Amino acid sequence: MVRLQKYLADCGVASRRGSEEIIRSGRVRVNGETVTEMGVKIDEDNDLVMVDDIPVRIEKKLVYIMLNKPAGFVTTVSDDKGRDTVMDLVTDIPIRLYPVGRLDYDTEGLLLLTNDGELTYNITHPKNNIPKTYVAEVTGNINMETLTRLRNGVVIDGIRTSPAKVEVIGATQLGTKLEITIHEGRNRQVRKMFESVGCIVKRLKRTKEAGLNLGHLPLGRWRKLSESEVNMLK
Ligand code: URA
Repeated sequence: MVRLQKYLADCGVASRRGSEEIIRSGRVRVNGETVTEMGVKIDEDNDLVMVDDIPVRIEKKLVYIMLNKPAGFVTTVSDDKGRDTVMDLVTDIPIRLYPVGRLDYDTEGLLLLTNDGELTYNITHPKNNIPKTYVAEVTGNINMETLTRLRNGVVIDGIRTSPAKVEVIGATQLGTKLEITIHEGRNRQVRKMFESVGCIVKRLKRTKEAGLNLGHLPLGRWRKLSESEVNMLK
């Protein structure tokens, strides 16, 4: 349900203030009834709104954005424990979007959001083997044998992970910094893979997904995907 003046503004009829004027002047009918008072709520999907006898509808525009998710946000639309959600970071967009897959509460980095259900399905379906790259800072040193185990597959939750690309890219005060690319999306997969070789992930950031690169997008910010980026996903 949405206020009539907001609906008219979202449809591009006029600004919110301009839409109020149009309502006041008696030019708007909802399901055949003329509405002149403010605050009437309408159901965008079922009510017929007309201005000067012409139906107005929100064009179902497909929107694709990438967010650089900070740690400390849940990847859901709402959280029953009252925690901050990724939706709190994309409030300045007038269309309802949904996260594509999930990042853990403590994981940072590239998260796609869209209202394109088909694309969400394609990216998240395990059969499509979509690559996802993470930078992980883990405790301890990683020797060649451990690298080989991670690359070939380790058993987590009773099932072996499929081959992964894993490279050491640096050292931290706590241990080792690695880049890991997986083609699955099992629950807490990267954290569990490192746990299985005796390391604890101290920081995890997704840097790439499905050919898209997080680049220099600042933490907590989002941007629209370019047309060519959207085409890459389809
Ligand atoms: N693997 C994890 O362990 N956590 C994530 O958020 C993503 C991949």
